Amino acid sequence: MAKRKVIIRRCEEYDQLLIKQIIREGIEELGEKPKGRILIKPNVVTANTQYIHHSYTAPQVVKAMVNVLRETSTDCEIALGESGAIGMPTRLFFADSGYSEMAKELGVPLRNFNEEKTVEVKLSRAKWHKTFLAAKSLYEADYKIWMPKLKYHIVCQITNALKLNIGILTHKERFLYHDDRLNEKVVDLLEFGYPNLVVTDAVVIGHGFESSPYPFHLGAVLISNDPVAVDTVAARILNYQPEEVLHLVEARDRGYGSLVFGDIEISGDVSVEELAEKTRHIESAFQDLQKLKTPIKFYEGVNPKTGNICYGGCICSIKGVLGTAEKKYPGSLAGAKPGGIVMGYYRGDVVHPGQPVALIGSCSGVEGRLECGKAIRIKSCPVKVRDLAVLLLRKFDIRSPAFDPANIAKMLYYSGIEAYSKMTIS
Ligand code: SF4
Repeated sequence: MAKRKVIIRRCEEYDQLLIKQIIREGIEELGEKPKGRILIKPNVVTANTQYIHHSYTAPQVVKAMVNVLRETSTDCEIALGESGAIGMPTRLFFADSGYSEMAKELGVPLRNFNEEKTVEVKLSRAKWHKTFLAAKSLYEADYKIWMPKLKYHIVCQITNALKLNIGILTHKERFLYHDDRLNEKVVDLLEFGYPNLVVTDAVVIGHGFESSPYPFHLGAVLISNDPVAVDTVAARILNYQPEEVLHLVEARDRGYGSLVFGDIEISGDVSVEELAEKTRHIESAFQDLQKLKTPIKFYEGVNPKTGNICYGGCICSIKGVLGTAEKKYPGSLAGAKPGGIVMGYYRGDVVHPGQPVALIGSCSGVEGRLECGKAIRIKSCPVKVRDLAVLLLRKFDIRSPAFDPANIAKMLYYSGIEAYSKMTIS
């Protein structure tokens, strides 16, 4: 069995020649030989030319990878593939992130998993996702290269190689088990979404809501042959103990590899400690709703069927919509109308006389006393960020990015193309 290795390289800027050199040397050091049908899966969860520039793997890093493969592997067929955030066309994100342009320039196919034929795959080690629909380019890949963007995550602490697999799901299945089982779902997907090689863009990392994050210059690229090992290192870089990252604990418990540093060979030209020191002061907003500076009060409820806090369901969606609104219109939350937001089933009182109270999720309810002015109910399990942006924000006098005319025009344009493309899947 190959030694679990993580290479950490200093990389202060998105310099093509430097990144190519780092990737080439990393592949050599790991002894990897990418060949056959190679799928590169970056993170392009969202993008917006106006205000979301750091949610996605920088195209320059992916471009460097493609060029290295072309220079070093004679026997390969390269494709890029991704399924962006649900509720929006992935094509829009490809365009706004620069991926469409980059893929065209390189002459590499850029696959939207939602526009491909799918094959049902059985996941024998899964707890919940016993099957999943693999897009053709993913299903047929001989060699998988995962290229995440290192970011803090609002409900999973970090997002890197393991969490990247949410983006192998088509929108049809994206929200299955995306509730109090999210960490388990992430590990279910690792069975088919197990990469041969991981190359993380940590030149600029993201904090806040991971789909509309704030940038922080870290100046590194991580390369590994083991997704659990690289995420263990990534957790430490962001000042978490690996055991605090619950999808890592779940992966370890299912036999995907230990979280002990001594079991991982770490090399490179910058240390974990140096990078961890740089991020030490970051307190990533939206991880804790109770710390937000806003007159809105939050009531985080449970999934009544399990009694567990529904961190990956409606709580996640509320954090997401508020994070997006605040990124687009800074100061929105501080200036919001006072009121309450209940997510899931809340075992306590919710008292807001004369103020709005929103009950979010099909299961939402209040076990104790509910007193308010207007009650707003938004049902679904979980509720999508897009729906909250349309239906919820204005009730609290928060401007919604959903009503930005430029966004609406782009949304309609790319939705139309995506719908047509889905109709003609062959
Ligand atoms: S509707 Fe209830 S169970 Fe479903 S995601 Fe929301 S809080 Fe969780």
